[in-house]
Amino acid sequence: MTIDFARLPRFPLATLPTPLTEARGLREALGGPARCPRILLKRDDLTGLALGGNKARKLEFLIGDALRQRATVVITTGAVQSNHARMTAAAARAAGLGVSLVLTTQEAAPEVQGNYLLDRLFGADIHLIPAGPDPKLAVAPDEEARVAEVMANLRARGERPYLIPVGGSSGVGALGYVAGTRELVEQLAAASVAPARLYYASGSRGTQAGLELGWRLFSPPYRLAGIAVSGGEDEKRVRAARVATEAAALLGVGVTVTPGELTTSQDHIGDGYGIPTRGGLEAIRLLATRDGVLLDPTYTAKAMAALIADVRAGVIDAGETVVFLHTGGIPALFAHAGAFDATD
Ligand SMILES: *Cc1c(COP(=O)(O)O)cnc(C)c1O
Repeated sequence: MTIDFARLPRFPLATLPTPLTEARGLREALGGPARCPRILLKRDDLTGLALGGNKARKLEFLIGDALRQRATVVITTGAVQSNHARMTAAAARAAGLGVSLVLTTQEAAPEVQGNYLLDRLFGADIHLIPAGPDPKLAVAPDEEARVAEVMANLRARGERPYLIPVGGSSGVGALGYVAGTRELVEQLAAASVAPARLYYASGSRGTQAGLELGWRLFSPPYRLAGIAVSGGEDEKRVRAARVATEAAALLGVGVTVTPGELTTSQDHIGDGYGIPTRGGLEAIRLLATRDGVLLDPTYTAKAMAALIADVRAGVIDAGETVVFLHTGGIPALFAHAGAFDATD
């Protein structure tokens, strides 16, 4: 289908297209061509904005929308090691805007490391709030109230705040992975490959919404294999369906996505959001030592652990190709240095 993205405001932030490379070493480590499908990496860790990641694609449309609305400052929320917060701060600065972040943390004085260090370097106005009691979820009880308070204070100072929901997962943000799907479909066609599956890490669901809508619009050969990294599946399915349907409306295509069509695997969350798993740590080591490519413990390691588990279980025919969407997250590695001590 021909989709006209040019009718939507977009602020250039990402270096596109991102490379599509092959993880040859990982394939060897998993039994070689006799046992393991060919594994392609869609390198959205290389989008280029402030150390990269998937949020750059969403932020092109979100910042475009903020500028169209003549906003002077953007505000968003996330965990203290949120990649989304770091990239939103960088994107705001690139567009000449102010930035306020409401960040959740279990600690009174979180270590100034990883994404949180970068938030501070971007000069973000940071508000720390206590994280909720359930580690499976990445939500804080009084988040909405704090955001409303920060917005009111900004308005009182004459600013025009633009609120970006957690993860950039709105209809506008989801456009990033509709456009991203078209990019990937073109790369696959040029390389004459028809992968059976696309694995990706799923958090706030904007990526899922974009990939699902893109799947309906551009008919890629692959099935989507979303791997949840946090709980709350029922509520998140509803959100993803709403966001995908909103994105369709913005594009002027009459597509409705329902919660029942949206599934993700719940098998690799482990003890909760941001808590490393054994499978994830193994995935980080394997890809690092075999292919020289880094993963992060919160998102991409858990998605790669799912791919590895599926290969070992013989779920995917060795003659097939699979794509792993590398969504980034690298700065959080440094904040998790301790997770690697035990196994060294
Ligand atoms: C935010 C993020 C995701 C998940 O994307 P959602 O759109 O929030 O589901 C995956 N990987 C990394 C590294 C991220 O930062």
